[in-house]
Amino acid sequence: MENDKKRISGIVYVIASVIVVAAIVTAIVLWKNSGKPSPSSDETAVTVTSSPSKELTPTATATPTVTPTATPTATPTAEPTLTVTPTGTEEIIWDEAFWVTFVTDEDPEYRESVAKFPDVPLVIPNKISTRAWDSPYVFEGWYDVENPDVLYVPGSEYNENRDIELRERWKQVSEEERELVSITLSGNREDHVITDRYSVYEGEKFFLFLDKDLDIPGDFGDNIELIMETLENEIGFTFDVFGREERMYFGSSLFGGTDPWRAVDNGTKQAIYVIADRTDEHMISYASAGAAVFVMYELFSDELWNSVESYRENDWRRGDDVYYDTIAHELTHSLTNRYYEGITRIMTEGSAEYYAELAITALKDHSKDFQGRYSMVEALKNEWIDETITKDNAETFFADDYRDLSHANRGDEYTFGRVFCEFLGEKYGATFMKKYLEAAKERGLGSQYCSTNNNVEPEKHAALMKELFGDDVFVKFAEWLDGSYQK
Ligand SMILES: [Zn+2]
Repeated sequence: MENDKKRISGIVYVIASVIVVAAIVTAIVLWKNSGKPSPSSDETAVTVTSSPSKELTPTATATPTVTPTATPTATPTAEPTLTVTPTGTEEIIWDEAFWVTFVTDEDPEYRESVAKFPDVPLVIPNKISTRAWDSPYVFEGWYDVENPDVLYVPGSEYNENRDIELRERWKQVSEEERELVSITLSGNREDHVITDRYSVYEGEKFFLFLDKDLDIPGDFGDNIELIMETLENEIGFTFDVFGREERMYFGSSLFGGTDPWRAVDNGTKQAIYVIADRTDEHMISYASAGAAVFVMYELFSDELWNSVESYRENDWRRGDDVYYDTIAHELTHSLTNRYYEGITRIMTEGSAEYYAELAITALKDHSKDFQGRYSMVEALKNEWIDETITKDNAETFFADDYRDLSHANRGDEYTFGRVFCEFLGEKYGATFMKKYLEAAKERGLGSQYCSTNNNVEPEKHAALMKELFGDDVFVKFAEWLDGSYQK
């Protein structure tokens, strides 16, 4: 029961958070490309390759007159150009674009402009200044130069149809607030580190950013390392599939909107946060390419647990084992997202369930925690798919992708997806996912999670499955399923 509840509320939240993260990434990509001479065709839908000078925008009307062919008068080298979608199917009416100009606070001469199209919200990106890790300043957001009381935080939307100049606002933080401690872990499950400050642990492939008031077993770091290695072996590529990625942005509800570990540069290593839910907000774990965030009751210190009534009086919520399957699930999201984000709900959640199961099974004899979670995962395997899958409707279910949230049985994308991935793994080997991701990326397929193409187009994914695994892949799936995992 507990598990069901956690999962259902979790699913809704994960979807919401993934969308926000994707939106942030979209804006960042737009931004990063704004200085590049020729963006690669698979990256962004619309890219401005240089900032047009202000002189090109008439002051009398709200509509900029910049056209792709116009030559700026003030900065002759900055000829605006426009890149349309990789498919070339969208025509952008350049005359209607507005300019959102971002200015650093350290160097007001340094500015980047992003085109905003009428009635299309622009997602506010992260800062562009880079400050030393021990800088006493923390980025708060962007303020409207003409109206400094208006602050836009990264991830929020700019919806107005007018040009705007936004400038970075940084806040100075105290020594105490910045205090971090680096910890070591013994490797033995019996040893524990209680975090009384924000703490950092560096692994081979990851950085662990630990909240205060956690109780971390000595083998936690080693076990994460093992999970990451196992996932890499099974999926067929590694966590360093790309370079540095933006880390998680915490919304205003967490840590006052700042990242207490911002002082630590994780470089290309995976960022893994373990967060304490101090007021029982039912926070749940989630992940993006740049980071994975875990809320694990079983890792809360006794002091934290006993200080919250709804925890203290419901000790069953704490669990006996460390939920390493949750860690494997979210890290699968990070690993596949690092390669390509444009995959369907079914393949996103199904692959995370499937590879987590493989990892837990591979590691089941490693410790009591893995053994406990393996038993749980095996028991959950018999969860039923709500509908009856037949060879006549299997493709329709896949192509529908449970996208209608109003009637879809929430959670079925996990179950259907896991079973479908199990079928693919059995028939085509566990690296089917690599094959699928490579082909989806090559074709620029979209999904709601994707920063470069967030068109929800699961039908194209269904067609791709047939192309990769045979025209009859869905028929074969239904035959393989043969009524199992169903009511
Ligand atoms: Zn998931």
